[in-house]
Amino acid sequence: MRGIRLLFLSVYFSFSGMISAQGIDKDRLLEDIKYLASPKLEGRAPLTEGSRLAQEYIVGRFKEFGLVSQYKEFVQPFSLKERFPDKRNPFGTNVVGFAPGSASDKIILVLAHYDHLGKRGEDLYLGADDNASGVGALLSLAGYFARERPAHSMIFAAVDAEEIGLLGSKALVNDFPFPLEQIALVVNMDMISRSSTNRLYAVGSRYYPQFRPPLLVVKSRSSIELVLGNEGEEGGQNWTNSSDHAPFHRQGVPFVYFGVDDHEDYHKPTDTFENIDPDFYHQATLLILDFIKEVDGTAVP
Ligand SMILES: [Zn+2]
Repeated sequence: MRGIRLLFLSVYFSFSGMISAQGIDKDRLLEDIKYLASPKLEGRAPLTEGSRLAQEYIVGRFKEFGLVSQYKEFVQPFSLKERFPDKRNPFGTNVVGFAPGSASDKIILVLAHYDHLGKRGEDLYLGADDNASGVGALLSLAGYFARERPAHSMIFAAVDAEEIGLLGSKALVNDFPFPLEQIALVVNMDMISRSSTNRLYAVGSRYYPQFRPPLLVVKSRSSIELVLGNEGEEGGQNWTNSSDHAPFHRQGVPFVYFGVDDHEDYHKPTDTFENIDPDFYHQATLLILDFIKEVDGTAVP
């Protein structure tokens, strides 16, 4: 009996040790995406109560982690007057947290948009994969790097108004709290929680080949099939300008964008929490964490 119990104990401890070493609590990750994609938040369209609740939740998590911010109360407001000319003083809201680095004045910016399409007629577009998934992962990564101090400083930005023209990320690049030259890498996550082919794409290494080696290293360690591409290569898709990394890329800021192929629930009311793949999502988040740690460790002299 004793022998067997010890065996169970050692299996238990090495398993739990593995989880903490990997650093992403799957239950917590799922709790975050579930809340952000819940009907209560009504699809998080800009200027709505659901959007405000999402902001409040993200700020609350940032405070829990002990992040600080260059912006008052973690909030960077920006005008939406051009988009909503009939509204009085409409503004969008980016939520931005900062974790100081230990050994570099370079910055890794982690980015995910929290807005989605909201309510249209009777239909709620909850945007679980697009992009509660990216924000859930961003929160897990922020928690990780608040505990395990990175060499690079890190900025975690949950941006607004992506779906109506990348307006939040454009505002962030225009009013970034540090010179853009200090950004070593932008990691953008947009749709990372499901794939019928077990495939996650990494876009950007065609333009910024310094990220090929770390991407290939983490690819070899993951159960997910990581595909480098969708950068306008012959016969392929081109996601270079398709999400919030684009305004940074246009300024020459290096980026890697992680995302899955469009699926049957893309921009439909059926993009719900029930339709994500929890295991794929957890593995994708671990892969992205692994990549950031790889860059953070290797890019510092
Ligand atoms: Zn999206």
